[in-house]
Amino acid sequence: MFNGLRLKLTLTNTIVTGLIFLFLLSGVYIVMQHSISNQSEKMMRAIASNDRFRYSPFITRARPLDPNYFFVVVDSVGNIVDTSPNLTNSHEEIYALVDKTMEVGQDFSYIKIDGVSFRFLKSYSNFRNDLLKIVFYNTQPESQMLKKLLTVIVTIGIITVLITFLASLFMANRALIPVRQSWERQRDFVADASHELRTPLAVVQTNLELVMSNKEDTVENQLHWLENIKAENARMTKLVNDLLFIARSDAGESQVEKAYFPLDIICKETIISFKLLCDGNNVNIIDDIEHDVNFYGNETRIKQLITILLDNAVKYTPSGGQIKVSLKQIDTNVEINVSDTGLGIPKEHLNKIFERFYRVDSSRSSTSGGTGLGLSIAKIIVNEHHGHISVNSVSGQGSCFHITLPLKKKTHH
Ligand code: ADP
Repeated sequence: MFNGLRLKLTLTNTIVTGLIFLFLLSGVYIVMQHSISNQSEKMMRAIASNDRFRYSPFITRARPLDPNYFFVVVDSVGNIVDTSPNLTNSHEEIYALVDKTMEVGQDFSYIKIDGVSFRFLKSYSNFRNDLLKIVFYNTQPESQMLKKLLTVIVTIGIITVLITFLASLFMANRALIPVRQSWERQRDFVADASHELRTPLAVVQTNLELVMSNKEDTVENQLHWLENIKAENARMTKLVNDLLFIARSDAGESQVEKAYFPLDIICKETIISFKLLCDGNNVNIIDDIEHDVNFYGNETRIKQLITILLDNAVKYTPSGGQIKVSLKQIDTNVEINVSDTGLGIPKEHLNKIFERFYRVDSSRSSTSGGTGLGLSIAKIIVNEHHGHISVNSVSGQGSCFHITLPLKKKTHH
């Protein structure tokens, strides 16, 4: 898939650049051709209008007539009356040239003799109109020069296209790196999500089969299986909701509505909702919450963020442990710390736990209902509030999650 895309990108780039160069270089060629032929025409007209018939006005003083320009003067019956001094051709050759010229009706045109082309200009003498002066110009050097120019242009063109191709290939490779990464991420995400859903689906299936194999039995007696189904169903619901949350944030769809709300009260409320669970687990939960922290953000999501951290803290802290939540306002930031005296996270996993589906010990987490999405959602929420989340942890001693969120000051009117 990516190879095809890369080739397509490279070729499109090369073709577009090639066409631009073709356009520019043919422009250069055409301009050169015009200016050369204009120059020679000017020269021919100057030679023609020089009534002394021997030298052009440009050359009288300095150099003799350019060997590519020459003229022949014929009278009304076609005899050669005069030729330019630089003409070394034989009489036959000159007559052949003149005859050929006379066959052409126009006064200014081309003829070709023995593969050599000449430009000619016929003009009548000002003082003896029975005399015809024909100025010739051998275009061979001119066309040779243009040929050389064309070779240079074609060579430059080919080199440019080659370089463009290589450069485009390089650029396409670079441009595709983030595309490939996000594609792979997405592919892994889908694969992990399907994998996560398979287990609860299988559990539901087996439990349903158990219930159905004892049709005569009462619901009461089968409650154990039914509760399994209910628990797995709840797990799937949570998983699907989490997946949806992540997918929406990936798509950039989740427009978080923000408003001012009392963060201290939200923290307290969330802690209270965990109190019962902690008591049941024989875990002590304490708080250190600063008062009157008015925060600008999305209340539901911040609550979800604290819930995720507390949920983990409870999950990974054994009986007799302690969980502490603190909230402080420092300068223009609020700082939330959620620490526990639980299992802790081994060093090598610390920078990975915010990744999707990442679990330190997947066998341990799956029994505790974890999917590995909690912390990645926490990170999304923190990012939505332009904050920062980090973790300090010592394996076997506990963990501390540290969140910094910028505080937007209320503007009083
Ligand atoms: P899960 O649903 O598995 O808890 P999370 O994304 O919330 O997924 O966490 C990822 C992993 O980080 C967990 O599997 C766990 O191994 C580790 N982890 C998170 N919080 C704690 C904590 N407070 N103490 C120990 N380990 C933790």
